[in-house]
This record gives sequence, structure tokens and C-alpha cells, in this order.
Amino acid sequence: MLNVDLHCHSTVSDGLLSPVEMAHRAHANGVDVWALTDHDEVGGVDAARLAANELGMRHIAGVEISVTWADKTIHILGLKIDDTNSQLVKGLHDTRNGRQKRARQIGSMLESAGIPDAYSGALRYVRNPDLISRTHFARYLIESGVCKDITDVFKHYLVNGKPGYVEHRWARLSDCLSWIKDAGGVAVIAHPGRYDLTPLQMSALLDEFKQSSGQGIEVVTGSHTPAQFVEYAKVAKRYGFLASRGSDFHGPGESKVELGALPPLPDNLVPVWHDWF
Ligand code: AMP
Ligand code: MN
Ligand code: MN
Ligand code: MN
Repeated sequence: MLNVDLHCHSTVSDGLLSPVEMAHRAHANGVDVWALTDHDEVGGVDAARLAANELGMRHIAGVEISVTWADKTIHILGLKIDDTNSQLVKGLHDTRNGRQKRARQIGSMLESAGIPDAYSGALRYVRNPDLISRTHFARYLIESGVCKDITDVFKHYLVNGKPGYVEHRWARLSDCLSWIKDAGGVAVIAHPGRYDLTPLQMSALLDEFKQSSGQGIEVVTGSHTPAQFVEYAKVAKRYGFLASRGSDFHGPGESKVELGALPPLPDNLVPVWHDWF
């Protein structure tokens, strides 16, 4: 059976390893088909493709796009995209815009909460100046002893109702789906189990996604519990969605699930890669 991992991050967004290091790690872990899916950025895809080709590992161009839907942040994976597509590249550029301003606001909110220098502290972890994320702040909060680990950070800081939370408007779902479609890719809802949606909102999201050319859903991801693998396998069948598998690996010592280390997709699902080879 193929070991497919279609979701992870490099230093081009909020991961700890470069695209080349990620390719080597995926290959060493036995991954056969690999996609690097940095947040709102395809700047690492070329290096990832080249490294994967040299290793003889199949590579799929990917991205994870931040979307605001019904005032909630939703992540959509674009897989098998043409990463040079101009509409996609412009859409991602516009989506990244505003991260700088948001980061300065996060910094001053943390300052007001008695945590100084968080903005400059977070910046020290940033490798791509276009892509400062909450993860970079999380690393600084751990380094400075405010929090013990990343789970602790996202429980007490940077989330709605806690210090350092700044509301932000990301891309529109309809725009994100049209960029992915225009770039010839497949749109997949990332880690659906992670969203704070009522059952009614979840059905509305799935309906709208399906009606606007969305095709896939992540079933087996590092963000789901085994019970959620089963739950979202049922959703995939009910909606006729293709099923995806991805670790969402961000780095050693930080992510619970290693590249390529998840269980396989449950039986009777159509994998998103079913017609790729
Ligand atoms: P941003 O795009 O700047 O809002 O940052 C979102 C990133 O924060 C996600 O992609 C994750 O890497 C990280 N994140 C959010 N919530 C959690 C959590 N509960 N545990 C670990 N990482 C999280
Ligand atoms: Mn991330
Ligand atoms: Mn995500
Ligand atoms: Mn991710």
C-alpha cells in the first residue's frame, strides 16, 4: 500500500525544516507520495519538487489556504495545483497581506497582557518575512517560559477570548475554490474535526463547499482522533467526497504525528489520489 502524506509545513510558512529537509525526512520515513502544503504560500514548492525528484519520491504541488467562512477560520488544501498559475499566485499574495499588521497587533496585545517583546521574539523564528504566523508567537511564548508547549499556548493565548487574539479576515471560500480550480487542482477541506462549528454550520459548510467545486475532505490527519477518522470517513461517503491523508507535520519535537506515520485511510473510501498515477 502507498504511503501518502499530503499535508505538512516548511520554513516557508510555520514549519521548522526547509522544503529540502522535509523532502529528505518524508523519504526517510517511507513516504511514497508527498505534498508540501505551506500556509498561503507556494514559495517552497520548486525546492520540494526538485528534492523529491532526486530522491525518487512522487511529489504533488500543494498549498493550505486560510479562509474566513461565517466568521470562522477554515483551512482548504489545494492539491495537484499548477503552482505558477497567476490567479492562484495573486490570490495567495493577497491572502498573506495583512499578516504583518496582525502580528504587530498580536505583539501589542501580549505586551498589554504583561508579555513584552513578543513581536520581535516571534520575528526571530520567521524565515519568510511574508509569512508570520501564530506559530512563531507560540515558539516565543515557549522560549520565554510563559507556556510549556504548543498545546498550552493555544489553550491560553492567541485564540478567541484569550490574550493575543486578533480577529482577521482571510480569503473568501468562493475565491479560494476558484483559485484552486483555475490552477487545475483539487480542493480538500483540511482537518474538519478541528473547527468550532455547530452541526448545522458544518452541514452548511460541506454543502457550500460541494456546490462550489470542492471535491475532498481530510479524513486521516494529525489533528483528528481515531474516532474522528471514523466520523469523517462517514462524512466523505455521505457527500461523495474524495478522502485525503496528511500528517500536518510542522517539525520535530513540536508535532505529535510524524511525516508518513498516520494509519491508512479507512476502507471503502475513494482516496484523493485514486486517478493520479
Ligand atoms: P495563523 O495562520 O497565523 O492563524 O496560525 C495558524 C497555525 O497555528 C496553524 O496552522 C497551526 O500550525 C497553529 N495552531 C493553531 N491552533 C493550534 C493548536 N491547538 N495546536 C497546535 N498548533 C496550533
Ligand atoms: Mn501551521
Ligand atoms: Mn491547518
Ligand atoms: Mn497545516
